[in-house]
Amino acid sequence: MSSHTLTGGVVCDLVDGTVEPRDLHISDGRIGGDGGETVDVSGCLVTGGFVCAHHHLYSALARGMPGPGDAPRNFLEILERVWWRLDRALDPETISLSAQIGALESALAGTTTIVDHHASPESIEGSLDGIAEGIAGAGMRGVVCYEVTDRHGTERGSAGVAENARFIEANDRPLIKGMMGAHASFTIGDQTMDEMVTVARNLGVPLHIHVAEDASDETDSIEKYGLRTAHRLSERGALAEGDLIAHGVHLDESEIQSVRTSGVFVAHNPRSNMNNGVGYAPVAALGQRVALGTDGIDGDMLAEAKACYLKAREASWEAGVGFPIERLVQGQVLAGSMFGEPAMGRLSAGAPADLCVLDYGAPTPFDAGNVAGHLIFGRPRVRDVMVGGRWIVRDGKHTEIGEEELRAKCREAAPKLWSRMEEY
Ligand SMILES: [Zn+2]
Repeated sequence: MSSHTLTGGVVCDLVDGTVEPRDLHISDGRIGGDGGETVDVSGCLVTGGFVCAHHHLYSALARGMPGPGDAPRNFLEILERVWWRLDRALDPETISLSAQIGALESALAGTTTIVDHHASPESIEGSLDGIAEGIAGAGMRGVVCYEVTDRHGTERGSAGVAENARFIEANDRPLIKGMMGAHASFTIGDQTMDEMVTVARNLGVPLHIHVAEDASDETDSIEKYGLRTAHRLSERGALAEGDLIAHGVHLDESEIQSVRTSGVFVAHNPRSNMNNGVGYAPVAALGQRVALGTDGIDGDMLAEAKACYLKAREASWEAGVGFPIERLVQGQVLAGSMFGEPAMGRLSAGAPADLCVLDYGAPTPFDAGNVAGHLIFGRPRVRDVMVGGRWIVRDGKHTEIGEEELRAKCREAAPKLWSRMEEY
């Protein structure tokens, strides 16, 4: 593997909060060593690569899609009229294209790891290979899973569990991992839930599930099980150390306690929550293990961090610009836990060389004390991106993907996908 020396830049290690002008050597996919080919990064900041802790690459071809004739008035109607029709219309070709374009755009935004949550109920078996290939083809790290659900019967619930297990056992791509995916408590009965938890624990992988995204999740859970969502999951063994829950908007005080003591990661998706009008997650109360996801909007973690800051600030004067940056770091901690790399996100010797070169001419003094303010209020341009010591983006262009050709293919496939939705 080639080695590199990045010279002339300012190295911002967001994990330990250091900011210093220094050369950065990369050898054998890791920070450190002798370095090699010199790359001039003058005028740039070098940070650890960003992690999207909750993505839905399958939604990438929905951009610009006409809305349903009967406009949704609540979250469930958004699911029923848009997303649960789009996911059924997906076939292997559109799953693959969605993953390729979604991964490409994430890479161009400085994201190096995507934690994806996939659904395609009419095309379950093999679907995770389509997602994994899209991410791997962009040279990125990825953690993939299929969203198990009983929405189309328990048989397809089991087919989802089987797809996760199949992928986890068969996958040998070095930068891709699998986990056990689950849609949400309100679409999974006890039988499928138990099957899913048993298989995940036997395989030794964490779960990734939407929790309490909308108030209706909680009312449904209380009605069906006499328990709030997080308590039901906890009772069924689906809330354990290292698991990943997305949203948590409507968790009450007792559920927040359960979440905190369980050691799960929480993916906070502020732009999606605003877009769906579901409310603001109690992120300040949820503890340290809160990372940021985009919930399929895009792969731009700096945009998500800005929204995270603004929502937190609107909610409390206690919130500062450091809060969203800590959330980005937690994404790196999450990715590190999946890849067995505790130093993920660090820019010190031995850490995986997943990094992002941001072209940013600071118009005011820049140092460790105010780097968060510059990242949240400035507009750095993602110039270069490296994953595991390999450049995947140079000067704003992907090093391997023919971007125009891929975009043209997507523009051709998307309208066909949209019209197939009429069948569902
Ligand atoms: Zn989601």
